[in-house]
Amino acid sequence: MIALIPIGHVDEEFINALRPSLEKVIGKRVRIAQRIALPWDSWNPDRGQHLSPSILAILAPLPYSGDRVLGVTDVDIYTTGLNFIFGEADYVGGKALISLQRLRQEFYGLPSDEKLFQRRVLKEAVHELGHTYGLGHCSDPTCVMYFSNSLSDTDFKEWELCPFCQENVNRIV
Ligand SMILES: [Zn+2]
Ligand SMILES: [Zn+2]
Repeated sequence: MIALIPIGHVDEEFINALRPSLEKVIGKRVRIAQRIALPWDSWNPDRGQHLSPSILAILAPLPYSGDRVLGVTDVDIYTTGLNFIFGEADYVGGKALISLQRLRQEFYGLPSDEKLFQRRVLKEAVHELGHTYGLGHCSDPTCVMYFSNSLSDTDFKEWELCPFCQENVNRIV
């Protein structure tokens, strides 16, 4: 089971729509958990961004070892050494976080594209969840576990695991 947790202000309708597609792609039951507030200490006023590890830290791991937690936030996130990140995962805690902000065309001053946005969110969600199942980055640029340096990488890859990564997941889960 995967718990989808909206963090801070996140469009509820969008989360509801994400649930079944994530369930289909990842092949596990996805439940929407109660929304939680952003932590008091994640905001960095100098950067105008939130520190991702501080947000990840407030996500409590689920009681069963097979379960995973995926936090979804709409604020811009970063981590030490990086200007921004699309998401982050904590393998030991079985939890992951994605940010919607930079996945929208509007962020780059482009016209909105809802379908493209949904595809990007799904890919980032599966990617970070893949890390929680122990997967590292894949060298196949079409695999969802390929590291996205930019959105063009995200747009190029599929939302599914390549056969190699799938086999690894099957061995773990
Ligand atoms: Zn990654
Ligand atoms: Zn792969």
